[in-house]
Amino acid sequence: EGPTIYCITPTYSRYVQKAELTRISQTLKLVPNVHWIVIEDAMEKTDLVRNLISESKLITTHLVAQTAPFEKLKDSNPRIKRHRGVEQRNAALKWLRENLVLGRDKGVVYFMDDDNTYSIKLFDEIAKVRKVGVWPVGLVGGLNAEAPIVDAKTGKVTGYKSGWLPNRPFAIDMAGFAINLDLVLEKVEATFSYEMAKGMQESEFLSFFTTKDQLEPLADRCTKVYVWHTRTEKPKITGNITGLEV
Ligand code: UDP
Ligand code: MN
Repeated sequence: EGPTIYCITPTYSRYVQKAELTRISQTLKLVPNVHWIVIEDAMEKTDLVRNLISESKLITTHLVAQTAPFEKLKDSNPRIKRHRGVEQRNAALKWLRENLVLGRDKGVVYFMDDDNTYSIKLFDEIAKVRKVGVWPVGLVGGLNAEAPIVDAKTGKVTGYKSGWLPNRPFAIDMAGFAINLDLVLEKVEATFSYEMAKGMQESEFLSFFTTKDQLEPLADRCTKVYVWHTRTEKPKITGNITGLEV
């Protein structure tokens, strides 16, 4: 039996929310040993999310963490408007650190946004992670895919093909890595922050845990795409039929 995969999903209310969460919960139903942590960007937990995760019959943890209003933060840094999921991912990290025990609980931590598309093959790769595993992500950064560059001789990551600052220490999308739970529990100082520049969240977060030469290239030495950074078009809704939850 493989390690528990802790999938951390920030989510927020909008027309497509239930569709997105239905899609990824049903992907997770096909994966053994998953613990799905769903964090609502809201003041309070909603019935929509509560009911959906309960009906999924997955092992779940339901949290809430509201993104601070932009107005309160803009003094410190005008770029933060573009950060998404910071508070929610931190709430999940806090939950892991408060509820799991180093040495007793074994697992791998994966940040699983609600709108991406995940192959079940990805989770076989995540289960192989020893410290930090990486793999390509499709449809991101203006490229067909971003991918770590793996040296054929050594099997180590030497750089990244990325459409966005490829020279970042870790030019990897949020969907392109997973971290052993032991490391997450050990490095309690590792969190996301609004101080991290746009596009630097992943790189700065990974820097807490590892170095480039220690990365474990998965998905057939980073030659396969098992996750896609899809984004759902905002539907144009011109009317509401009452009594139907969408
Ligand atoms: N998200 C959130 N609150 C927001 C915007 C986004 O909780 O105000 C969540 C969203 O549901 C997703 C993650 O944060 O799980 C990343 O957001 P998004 O997919 O919009 O970012 P992008 O694809 O543009 O990087
Ligand atoms: Mn997204």
